Amino acid sequence: MGVTAILGETLALALPPRCPGCGAVVRGDHRFCIDCWGSLDFLGPPWCATCCQPFAIDRGPGAQCAACLDHPPRHAGARAAVAYGPVARTLALRLKYGGRLAFATTAARLMARHLPADAGLMVPVPLHRWRLWGRGFNQAALIAAALARTSGIAHDPLLLHRTRRTPALKGMGPRQRRQAVRAAFVVDPARRAGLEDCHIVLIDDVYTSGATADACTRALLKGGAAKVTVLCWARVVGDSFD
Ligand SMILES: [Zn+2]
Ligand SMILES: [Zn+2]
Repeated sequence: MGVTAILGETLALALPPRCPGCGAVVRGDHRFCIDCWGSLDFLGPPWCATCCQPFAIDRGPGAQCAACLDHPPRHAGARAAVAYGPVARTLALRLKYGGRLAFATTAARLMARHLPADAGLMVPVPLHRWRLWGRGFNQAALIAAALARTSGIAHDPLLLHRTRRTPALKGMGPRQRRQAVRAAFVVDPARRAGLEDCHIVLIDDVYTSGATADACTRALLKGGAAKVTVLCWARVVGDSFD
């Protein structure tokens, strides 16, 4: 974490605690107001056995969604604390662009219950180094660090690198997204020993089409990981890739 990030987090914690969804003053850090809490859509079964896309009806154990059947993901499962809705989106945007770095801990607290029991190492989805320099922090790495503090599971924000700047995926369809991030991630050879035969949990803020997670998973498996599970703050539910 850079100096800017540390100062930002310190500053955020010095201010009165505010609801990550609407900014109302709340009773404690990392709490939502009653309205925002009530509007969060916590994810759970029935869902796709692979990517946890919720189903309207229970299709039985092992049932997969159309997207997973069309393009089976390489990861062993994608979990998210909540569906991507107005409150989940606001938290993600305020963390990423609004300097509310303490919201990484808020997200991590609600993600922790989805950590696999045999998780060996958490790896955040990396930013390209130019973007990291510009922003001063990687929001996925902040979430992974917060999860590491509460779970005791190790995290390594330097294991995976983004080798090139990838375009914003907003507005692209699934195929375009896969092409945009293809071969954009690589494991640092000097840190490869840390992931061999390990169950890696890939951490990100938002899961949209799964293209980025899939490209990261490919690099991690190529580097020697036994399997990769994805864990995000929020995931887009349905076919909307905005
Ligand atoms: Zn609120
Ligand atoms: Zn699925």
